[in-house]
Amino acid sequence: MGEPLESQLAPAPLPPEQRPVASLRGVGAALAERLQRLGVEQIQDLLFVLPSRYEDRTHIVPLGSLAPGQRAAVEGEVQLTEVVYRRRRQLLSRIADGSGFLTLRFFHFSTAQQNGLARGTRVRCFGEVRRGPLGLEIVHPEYRRVFESSEAAEETLTPVYPTTEGLAQGRLRALIGQALRELDAAASAGRALPASRITDWIPPEVLQPLHLPALPEALRYVHHPPRSASLDELAAGRHPAQRRLAFEELLAHHSSLKLLKRAVQADAAWPLEDPAQLAARLLRSLPFELTEAQQRAFGEVRADLNASRPMVRLLQGDVGCGKTVVAAAAAALAAGSGGQVALMAPTELLAEQHWNNFQGWFRPLGLPVARLTGSIAARARRSVVETIGSGEIQIAVGTHALFQEGIKFNRLALIIVDEQHRFGVQQRLKLQEKGLTAGRFPHQLIMTATPIPRTLAMTAYADLDISVIDQLPPGRTPVRTVVIPAQRRQQIVQRILDACRSGAQVYWVCPLIDESDELRYQAAEETAAALAAALPQLQIGLIHGRQGAAEKDRTMAAFKDGKTHVLVATTVIEVGVDVPNATLMVIENAEALGLAQLHQLRGRVGRGAGASTCVLLYGGRLSPMARERLRAIRRTSDGFEIAQRDLELRGPGELLGTRQTGLAQLRVADLVRDADLLPRVQAAADLMLRAYPERIEPLAARWIGAGGRYGRVG
Ligand code: ADP
Ligand code: MG
Repeated sequence: MGEPLESQLAPAPLPPEQRPVASLRGVGAALAERLQRLGVEQIQDLLFVLPSRYEDRTHIVPLGSLAPGQRAAVEGEVQLTEVVYRRRRQLLSRIADGSGFLTLRFFHFSTAQQNGLARGTRVRCFGEVRRGPLGLEIVHPEYRRVFESSEAAEETLTPVYPTTEGLAQGRLRALIGQALRELDAAASAGRALPASRITDWIPPEVLQPLHLPALPEALRYVHHPPRSASLDELAAGRHPAQRRLAFEELLAHHSSLKLLKRAVQADAAWPLEDPAQLAARLLRSLPFELTEAQQRAFGEVRADLNASRPMVRLLQGDVGCGKTVVAAAAAALAAGSGGQVALMAPTELLAEQHWNNFQGWFRPLGLPVARLTGSIAARARRSVVETIGSGEIQIAVGTHALFQEGIKFNRLALIIVDEQHRFGVQQRLKLQEKGLTAGRFPHQLIMTATPIPRTLAMTAYADLDISVIDQLPPGRTPVRTVVIPAQRRQQIVQRILDACRSGAQVYWVCPLIDESDELRYQAAEETAAALAAALPQLQIGLIHGRQGAAEKDRTMAAFKDGKTHVLVATTVIEVGVDVPNATLMVIENAEALGLAQLHQLRGRVGRGAGASTCVLLYGGRLSPMARERLRAIRRTSDGFEIAQRDLELRGPGELLGTRQTGLAQLRVADLVRDADLLPRVQAAADLMLRAYPERIEPLAARWIGAGGRYGRVG
């Protein structure tokens, strides 16, 4: 007789590392779900949950030599355990080891715990020692009973993992230990070597010249570093095992972005050749010549648009370098080819400004420009949506409202996104798919003023081509920046008056630093009122996020037309706003802002030929970090240099934007510390794309949690 039918039909058993975590002893549905939140589905995924730090419990510290602030493993015999009431109910247990005493303090405890700490019990504890009312103590130590004092201390350094709610550190640590043992057991049972159990997706020709440890070795080391390992080296992320994993993580991100780019480029797009010569006509109509950098960028854009695969290009350039007009030329090129263009801005204010500019440029060419934002009245909106759908309107400017349900383009050829640092990979893809008309994908041009250092940009934006405008239009004088304490704001009032008397205009920025929305707007309103009282001869405007779109429009238009002299604003004016006659900017609470943000704000002045000044006011005592930031912003106006400092001071998360998942939240790699690996990561990604494209997805699955996956949206 053969085997029962069922087992004949059953699929081949999975190799141990690919089995679901639920197949581990003691893992039920609830725990499996919590693990999933950490990106853990299979047993092997546990191995890639990496420690965020380590503790040394390899030697037991005598109680008599403990010092406050120390994190230590200790051992002692319980002398007394009692429940006391001091403000709250708590359990105190006093242990001794002949050299001294220590109190263990618990605010949450069970009766079983209390009984387990009976007099005479030996316990081993770990935690942070602090000074308490009864001498040194540890609050809520990790502890366990020991039965013989000869029992060895931990043999390896203890990993501390990033965990999730409802999943205790000890539990996660045990599970990961179990996963490591399963793999080793599989090996010693002779079924396979551990090396083949954790597949190394990186080809040997990439690894060899790096001289880094093999994957299983690296994993074993980072989870259980030997007693002899240096805590400092581990904390600095400099151990070869960590470098090996950092390389792998960066490669996972980078190569999957490149794979995505290749997939996008395999799609069809409208080739735009502009037989109507609209781009040339638009450029001829400008009152200025494009800078060389603008011309180069536009040349790159034009070459992409001529092709029949979709462009996905990042147009990067410091504030004020003139990205908008390059985008307008691209729009003209698309319109001149009979296609439609959608320009999307992050705020209504900016959408409004772009709409005004575009009208000025396209009306003379006989092309109407539609506007679509959230605040447009329903009737007007209906007619805009209709003309977009029929193809009657070729150029539409708006906010994300442009891509809401129910809006259908007729022949969308180009999407322009301004200030993309608020935009992640997924959003780019979604736009691309929404723009699909008649089997063709639109081209995408993404503008950003966030100057990201080149190697970082090439890694973080590997799915994009990049054009850089590295030159400002001629005739600009650099902005002079001064830093002064807020107590001296009286002096500034005089300065404002002088500036306005000479025909210039002024921004006064009140950053949103208060926790409550209400207070924030109040602060801006109070400032406006105070300035109005101090400067009765001037017109003071006020703009903030709480106002309706129509009110914002009016305020902005009045400032642009020179009808108001001083514009008090929250950081709504941070991106894009362009009023060349404004030559003085005052920023309150400058110490609370990041470098990149200060640079963006300051970029609102210095846009015309007149000399401009930016006054940074700070209140209170400056932290060393804030002092460093203010010094950096005063010293340089080069966006790339500022970005580099920002990167060093705050890490890449801020620079890349919090919505940019994935690279902003790396597990072991650090884009600053491991920057030297990036060129090799790029070369390795190219090689994998060429020779081993099938390995990229499993590699990415290992490192990029479901939330940050760079796949197409289904
Ligand atoms: P950003 O790159 O920050 O978006 P804008 O596109 O708003 O900059 O341009 C800033 C200002 O410079 C605008 O007033 C624009 O008209 C002007 N400008 C752009 N290009 C040139 C140029 N080549 N020569 C002179 N002025 C220019
Ligand atoms: Mg701009």
